[in-house]
Amino acid sequence: MKNKQFSKRWTNSIQNNYGTPSITLVKGKGLVVKDIEGNTYLDFLAGIATNILGHAHPSVVSAVSKQVRTLNHVSNFYSHPNAVALAEKLASFTGTKGAKVFFCQSGAEANEAAIKLSRKTGRSHIVATQGSFHGRTMGALSLTGQPSKREPFLPLLKNIKHVPFGDIEAMRRCISKKTAMVIVEPIMGEAGVIVPPDDYLQQLRALCDKSGALLVIDAVQTGMGRTGDWFGYEYSGITPDVITVAKGLGGGLPLGAMIALGRSADLFEPGEHGSTFGGNPITTAAALAVIKTIESKKLLKKVQGQGRLLIQELALIPGVQQVRGAGLLIGIELESGNAREISTKLLERGVLVNPANDTVIRIAPALIVSDAQIKKFITIFREVLVHDN
Ligand SMILES: *Cc1c(COP(=O)(O)O)cnc(C)c1O
Repeated sequence: MKNKQFSKRWTNSIQNNYGTPSITLVKGKGLVVKDIEGNTYLDFLAGIATNILGHAHPSVVSAVSKQVRTLNHVSNFYSHPNAVALAEKLASFTGTKGAKVFFCQSGAEANEAAIKLSRKTGRSHIVATQGSFHGRTMGALSLTGQPSKREPFLPLLKNIKHVPFGDIEAMRRCISKKTAMVIVEPIMGEAGVIVPPDDYLQQLRALCDKSGALLVIDAVQTGMGRTGDWFGYEYSGITPDVITVAKGLGGGLPLGAMIALGRSADLFEPGEHGSTFGGNPITTAAALAVIKTIESKKLLKKVQGQGRLLIQELALIPGVQQVRGAGLLIGIELESGNAREISTKLLERGVLVNPANDTVIRIAPALIVSDAQIKKFITIFREVLVHDN
């Protein structure tokens, strides 16, 4: 009853841009969340890849509690040790020297920063990919390659081309001396977890080198260990010019970052960009705790193994056409177009997932997921697909 009541209050008080959720969540620990009626769920979506260590992880709880008691927002007129330490850490993950970070609150803002940074090259054209998701603000939406999300809001930024994802020849035809930046996701998340050909990023790097365009990797969804690496492009061996992260970075708190490498690191000058809350002591405390835990518990390696197991096991289930992804970012392509219906049935069985579209179910559990929880997920998924279908 209470879930229904809150759905009604949501409808009456919250804008209709999301549609009305059917359940209201009130509590969570690790991968288990509880709704307002006391039903529990196995959370295999993690707030869309944000709660990278699950709900209420002790390291995040302790870091945030300590910081909120000590000092809150300082503005960008003053430095704070957390922001500096986190920037140094993120820069070190690029494996390069001299990378510099801009902090913000979300993925869209990180990509907005990348767009502005790329203008400082003196060029203004951009190439992005069809089906991509880069955020909803006007600049980020201009990058997003999904007509249904763009069309109600035209006109958007000019001189942005969208080419088929994974098609290097299409990129070659579009990248020129006018191209300021090329932006791609290492794996397209919202589009249904689409993995590009093995050598795609390498070839793209070569094209960008030739034209002088910045190569921007949108690691908002693939980042922070989700794929078993810090950002998700590392398998390719390339070095990007810019990396954007958000989602998992704050361990459930709103935090985004644009990391600029090499010559791009010094493109912005004082006064050219900003964000009041960027580098907030509390959100950066959470991120430092997240990184420390991922490192000390060796979660990257664990995630790689669990990802392989999930892909293998899920592919054996009748009704599953294909399983794609890396680490704990996985898309399950169904033979029939009833991904939304299956997701609702999983919810009724106490499992939270996301239908990325009519045929793909996306899962992105917290990196702390146990082998037993993975087993439980596979069992319930099989039962729902085979028996209830
Ligand atoms: C979610 C997402 C974004 C947008 O992030 P917001 O925090 O919602 O603005 C951008 N890029 C990718 C790849 C994403 O998955």
